[in-house]
Amino acid sequence: MIYQADSSKAEEFINHEEILETLEYAQANKNNRVLIEQLIEKAALCKGLTHKEAALLLECDQPDLIERIFHLAKEIKQKFYGNRIVMFAPLYLSNYCVNGCIYCPYHAKNKTIARKKLTQEEICKEVIALQDMGHKRLALEAGEHPSLNPIEYILESIQTIYSIKHKNGAIRRVNVNIAATTVENYRRLKEAGIGTYILFQETYHKENYENLHPTGPKSNYAYHTEAMDRAMEGGIDDVGMGVLFGLNTFRYDFVGLLMHAEHLEARFGVGPHTISVPRICSADDIDARDFPNAISDEIFSKIVAVIRIAVPYTGMIISTRESQESRRKVLELGISQISGGSRTSVGGYAETELPTNNSAQFDVSDTRSLDEVVNWLLELGYIPSFCTACYREGRTGDRFMSLVKSGQIANCCGPNALMTLKEYLEDYASEDTRKKGVSLIQKEVERIPNPKIREIAIRNLKEITEGKRDFRF
Ligand code: SF4
Ligand code: SF4
Repeated sequence: MIYQADSSKAEEFINHEEILETLEYAQANKNNRVLIEQLIEKAALCKGLTHKEAALLLECDQPDLIERIFHLAKEIKQKFYGNRIVMFAPLYLSNYCVNGCIYCPYHAKNKTIARKKLTQEEICKEVIALQDMGHKRLALEAGEHPSLNPIEYILESIQTIYSIKHKNGAIRRVNVNIAATTVENYRRLKEAGIGTYILFQETYHKENYENLHPTGPKSNYAYHTEAMDRAMEGGIDDVGMGVLFGLNTFRYDFVGLLMHAEHLEARFGVGPHTISVPRICSADDIDARDFPNAISDEIFSKIVAVIRIAVPYTGMIISTRESQESRRKVLELGISQISGGSRTSVGGYAETELPTNNSAQFDVSDTRSLDEVVNWLLELGYIPSFCTACYREGRTGDRFMSLVKSGQIANCCGPNALMTLKEYLEDYASEDTRKKGVSLIQKEVERIPNPKIREIAIRNLKEITEGKRDFRF
């Protein structure tokens, strides 16, 4: 096997020998200050880094240089994403699963977990509960089960979700995280109007992957690794990648992740829309202490910072797996989307979960409500954003990327964040959150650089107070 970034074969674009050579190169050069400084300067041009260059920065252990990497990550985060943080929530449809993933409590052999699949009526209740919290953007989650969770069930659920209009609520973007599937099924998901197709690789190390996935369709490494290619062939141009850090050595998976991003860019001309950085955590019959590769907070921060500077145009996501403190730290280093008020059980938003009926995929560390998370973000000086404008304006794939790369996106994101935050404050926020939000909006609206856009945003904000909704640039 030879390494070839634009190959359609998993073992060529995620090439084991290339990863090993990259890791050796990073080890051999980790004390080469001149080279590391050159790479930091290159990254400051905001054109990204190769997997090899990024691996070297990740390996660097000299405190002053690490400080410079963190500083640059913060600068790039500020340049492309400002102080906006996009909010979303996961929605678990079904935890029936035929796979044997040993790190996930939904694995087929787990007899202790409560199994549940939502009916369309139950989905309505969940969506109304989510709308009443203020959410506009969801990530659908479902286990892989050809007879219980077929593609028709997922498509019907998406249709149900988009159809629910309750008070001023609406789910405006549904991202979907379901098992690797066929080009034809991806085409159907695209036609159903999904936002991003999300699929985590878990680990790029083939042998470990096969050990971690002993049974079920997911055990096929190549089929899983080539899923994003099929999604793109099926017309989905926003894809979200991620690995579960802790399953394998973080260095290997970090390089694999960036090679995967380079592959999509080389083959389809557009990299991943988002990268998620989950870490292994405990749940039901899973104990995180059984995974010797689990990573420390320090390494986690470094990974986030180096991904930020290696792929500046790709959004980065963390979930409520992370604690409040850990989330605070990585928000400034590069995270642009977070979940809030999440329930990781099936049916968890409409009902209070009974301890004897726990169907959760993982234990939530950050258990605060959406209002508490929004309030906290405002206190930290961030603008919580409920924006879904790009998807609804057809700004996806390379159209989206060229806008981001030209810097034009800044004229959309800022005002959209303020207008969607204003909607949230009017319809869902507590009194304290509302006060903090209103004063932040007053300050931020004056900072919109383009006078024409500023004028329209001020007018729209006023109309939102008067009851109008759904403005966007
Ligand atoms: Fe099923 Fe996904 Fe859990 Fe694996 S990770 S057991 S495929 S739900
Ligand atoms: Fe995201 Fe587009 Fe909204 Fe900016 S304008 S926050 S890129 S959806």
